[in-house]
Amino acid sequence: MSVPHRPRSSAALYPSSLYHSSMYDPAVPVGSYWEETAGEDETGAPFEGTQACDVAIIGGGYTGLSAAYHLARDHDIDVCLLEAGPLGWGASGRNGGFCAPYPSSLSLEEMVRRFGADEARRFLQTQEEAVELVRHLAESENMDIAPQGNGFWYIAHDERRFAHLEEMAETLRSVFRQEVRLAPREEVAARVYDSEEQFGGMWWKLGFGLHPLRFARGLARAARRAGAQLYGNSPVTEWRKKEGVHELITPRGRLLARRVILATNGFTPEKLHPSFDGGTLPVMSNIIVTRPLTAEELAAQNWRTDCPCTNTRNLLFYYRVLPDGRFMFGGRGDTAGTPQGAAHMKAHLTRRMGEVFPAWGGVPVTHYWRGFVCMTRNLRPAIGALPEDRSVYYGLGYHGDGVASAPWTGRLLARLIAGEAETKDIPLMMRGPLKTFAFPSLRRWYLRGALVYYFMTDL
Ligand SMILES: Cc1cc2nc3c(=O)[nH]c(=O)nc-3n(C[C@H](O)[C@H](O)[C@H](O)COP(=O)(O)OP(=O)(O)OC[C@H]3O[C@@H](n4cnc5c(N)ncnc54)[C@H](O)[C@@H]3O)c2cc1C
Repeated sequence: MSVPHRPRSSAALYPSSLYHSSMYDPAVPVGSYWEETAGEDETGAPFEGTQACDVAIIGGGYTGLSAAYHLARDHDIDVCLLEAGPLGWGASGRNGGFCAPYPSSLSLEEMVRRFGADEARRFLQTQEEAVELVRHLAESENMDIAPQGNGFWYIAHDERRFAHLEEMAETLRSVFRQEVRLAPREEVAARVYDSEEQFGGMWWKLGFGLHPLRFARGLARAARRAGAQLYGNSPVTEWRKKEGVHELITPRGRLLARRVILATNGFTPEKLHPSFDGGTLPVMSNIIVTRPLTAEELAAQNWRTDCPCTNTRNLLFYYRVLPDGRFMFGGRGDTAGTPQGAAHMKAHLTRRMGEVFPAWGGVPVTHYWRGFVCMTRNLRPAIGALPEDRSVYYGLGYHGDGVASAPWTGRLLARLIAGEAETKDIPLMMRGPLKTFAFPSLRRWYLRGALVYYFMTDL
């Protein structure tokens, strides 16, 4: 492989990025509630000088950190991770903390139609393993991830969608043996919460809420304890391969490795490696958090659940009451990533929160932040090794559901590298290759079209 020489400044890391440059700049404050409550940063000093290792990892989110942890701990492999910002700076440190299944935009029916019922069941089984893995990692490595709730709720935002939830519950029960429960509007109003956009719901046992940045930092600590070398603030600005050895260039150093894992998900730079160019579609997700709600305010919407909730809109809202009583409300939107877009999305989410939960309309919003989730052309994750260079591994494209799937993927990548798993062990639903988008420069326009379509179908 020959990759053109790149300038070494981190400003040039994303030379042809899809969104405004501030979205990719670790110097721009994220502003998340998680940063204020996560405890000590684990980043340490940047990578310097010339070093060699067996496996290099690009990207210090759940995928990369879990791969580093499992490579070092389970397989005793010499591993070094490079992250552009502080460790956990990407989506892993700023998500909604829903540790839940289904990293794909394909429906259950579409998945069964394309891959058959057995493969679909295999995929759902990975999701059970993934949620369990997060619990296990937190417990066995003493991470204080503030687990919350048992399962999560899908809430119908209109009557039509409740019928859809009924069908979904039936499929999840009969085909996938999942523990789900339907609750009509009155039951949700009495036992979960009530709102202007609540027409019944479905509870799915598979999942819980957590503190995402504490989980990322906990993984980083555990990976270091296991012997992995982790470097934050060390963007890979150039990637070459000579005589079977990968050479990763950072602003202050050069890392040589026999194998590389690309774990950059929605923050994947264009033109770092030709096989990944045009293969991902980063989609912006935005979150607001209010000040702690009083007992009276919670009672005004009859809020009674610890479980995370998602509604059934195509342009969905996801929300939970955090352990300290703050309300977290998230949603997709904005296709530019400019600072003006941030102000607009904050106002939009604040307004919509007040429409869905009128009693909380005037409650001050204390935090707003955003980041990228990652979609792929075939609407499902891509995990594997490049067919043209089996020394390059990748795991990405969790479609906004990576809290459980990304650490699971990291562990699978470690097993693939250690020779304890083979390509056939990757369920077809998650197996690469990563397909390039047709006319990749038009990706944001595809997204705009999809957002308009979803907006119309949600009406
Ligand atoms: C606002 C928001 C809310 C979300 N809510 C949920 C949720 O509630 N539940 C859920 O399951 N999922 C959620 N997600 C998605 C979830 O966070 C991701 O799927 C998951 O964190 C992906 O982990 P990752 O390690 O693959 O990628 P990331 O955590 O994004 O890490 C990729 C890293 O690669 C780094 N990188 C990129 N290029 C380079 C380079 N050249 N050199 C070095 N490093 C580089 C980036 O800096 C970044 O830190 C949400 C995402 C967002 C943005």
